[in-house]
Amino acid sequence: MDIGTAAGPVALQRIVDYVNTRGADGDGLGTPEQVTSWLHTHDLLPVCAQAGTADRERAVWLREGLRALLAENNAEPVTSPRPDGLDPTARTQLATLTAELPLHLDVTSVPPRLVPQSREPVDYALATMLADVATAVAAGSWPRLKACREPSCRWAFYDHSRNHGRTWCSMNVCGNRVKVRASQRRRTAR
Ligand SMILES: [Zn+2]
Repeated sequence: MDIGTAAGPVALQRIVDYVNTRGADGDGLGTPEQVTSWLHTHDLLPVCAQAGTADRERAVWLREGLRALLAENNAEPVTSPRPDGLDPTARTQLATLTAELPLHLDVTSVPPRLVPQSREPVDYALATMLADVATAVAAGSWPRLKACREPSCRWAFYDHSRNHGRTWCSMNVCGNRVKVRASQRRRTAR
């Protein structure tokens, strides 16, 4: 799906694709080789560089942390207890990781932009996606990046809707699943 906004469409699409490397058919970041390949395909890593086992772990922390942030962009106003389906440590791990991936403001570019400081290629790649988050926040497009509200799904998508009200990755799949559960609850309550 093409996101097609003025605010860095490639970078936003890349965040969506990154979060969606974990799906029903397996983990696209399951091995260091897969991480290397994904980063190469998305122009984030020099061809000569490769990810190791520790890099793979950090790459997964980043992905699950981003998923938690995207789910926050799609949280219900009040639900208690809130259905989650997320790794409860994801945000803490992301906070630990971001502390190790510093960005600095490059004022020689117009407009100024955040750039990674790391000299380690995989860290540089991961920090690039953090800089993309900051760019999306500044551009106002961040709240439109969401993870599906269905706890068993949490697929990432860009909300193109006029009122920013899209809740499900797909109305036919997750939207329907929720409707069916609600009607089952109504039936058993009778
Ligand atoms: Zn879904």
